[in-house]
Amino acid sequence: MDNTTTWKCNKCGEALVMKKVVFGYMNRSFSHEVPVCPKCSKVFISQALAEGRMVEVEEALEDK
Ligand SMILES: [Zn+2]
Repeated sequence: MDNTTTWKCNKCGEALVMKKVVFGYMNRSFSHEVPVCPKCSKVFISQALAEGRMVEVEEALEDK
């Protein structure tokens, strides 16, 4: 993954902005910053990112 690449909405061509979105997971909700198109509000989450974050969340819950 190239972190310097600016993600763009493939529909609008707008550069994505990081926005806090609330996810529901196992009857709990978590907020996390994800890339969102400022024009059409489409949220871009790759499957790998989503799965990675879910793993982080599960680990965080187990620690408490
Ligand atoms: Zn868009």
